[in-house]
Amino acid sequence: MSQTAAGRPVRIDLRSDTVTRPTEAMREAMARAPVGDDVYGDDPSVRALEERTAAVLGKEAAVYTPSGTMSNQIAIRCQTEPGDLVLAEQRAHAYLVESGGPAALSGATVVGLPGRRGVFTGEQVRASVHEPHFMVPGVCGPPARLVAVENTHNGAGGAVWPLTAIRDTAGTARELGLGTHLDGARLWHAAAATGIPERDYAAPFDTVSVCFSKALGAPMGSCLAGSAPMIARARRFRQLFGGGFRQAGIVAAGALHALNRHRARLVEDHRRARRLAEGLAELPGLELDPDDVETNIVRFRTPGVNAFRLAEDLLDQGVAVLPASRGAMRVIPHLWITDDDIEEAIAAFARARKHVIPA
Ligand SMILES: *Cc1c(COP(=O)(O)O)cnc(C)c1O
Repeated sequence: MSQTAAGRPVRIDLRSDTVTRPTEAMREAMARAPVGDDVYGDDPSVRALEERTAAVLGKEAAVYTPSGTMSNQIAIRCQTEPGDLVLAEQRAHAYLVESGGPAALSGATVVGLPGRRGVFTGEQVRASVHEPHFMVPGVCGPPARLVAVENTHNGAGGAVWPLTAIRDTAGTARELGLGTHLDGARLWHAAAATGIPERDYAAPFDTVSVCFSKALGAPMGSCLAGSAPMIARARRFRQLFGGGFRQAGIVAAGALHALNRHRARLVEDHRRARRLAEGLAELPGLELDPDDVETNIVRFRTPGVNAFRLAEDLLDQGVAVLPASRGAMRVIPHLWITDDDIEEAIAAFARARKHVIPA
């Protein structure tokens, strides 16, 4: 057993879709990849990935970055000045799960809007922007500059933004003269679940970030896509943030392989997530509605069961999960998880629950 979680051997790793290792075919593509110094613009494999990603997203250009976090933070830096106001959903990854990036790297003020399953409306955006009036000094509030949307929404359990909601929120932002960013780390899942192409979701946004290391199973990296001038600016901030990464074609080739080969199979992850949710919903002490599982993320509360203790017992059984807090947990099927793994995991949960709360 070569896989480990928290330093312990595991058979079934459901903590995240980032734990996937490259497939043999992906490793071959990486081994063969032509490379060059990407800071000089000389890496053909990076260029191929950037061009293909821009085409899939219907944008003029894209830049490859080491992580989705960097890609989001470059987008915020590109579209704001220090002090500017960014509007995001209150649990947005770019706001709350990126180590304080907007404040530290862009000097941005972020306001988190309460969403319904991660979705907020154009009306909420409008209400957050000061209406100008000659009796009110216009210089006191931080100038609203950017609206950031996350699709699928990680914190809301992989929820998909309806296209109409995207158009309403991004359209209102545009009317108000604000920039727009889409954190599409898992945009592939929205497209797989609905059949709506990624480019349609991406269309209303000035910048779009997508991840190759989640979902698609590549070792690392993200792309930020947008207009050619925007991405030229993004290249400057990628360098400033330390993301100019030389012969990155080695990993970009894995990402390109994943982009071309692994999107169609995402519906399998959705089916397995759904089955896992159905199995878990039957266990007393776990609170979830399988109908809420739209893509690959299964989030649930554990009222009456300590989620940390549950996770420790599962780890003893060789099953790794992510306790989000004492009372909440997340599990994610991915490229390396089979139907049998799902059934085994459900059985392990049933045992763990009994161990943690003996009948
Ligand atoms: C994981 C994630 C990111 C960050 O990606 P990393 O490559 O892990 O830095 C950004 N946004 C969302 C919605 C994510 O789920």
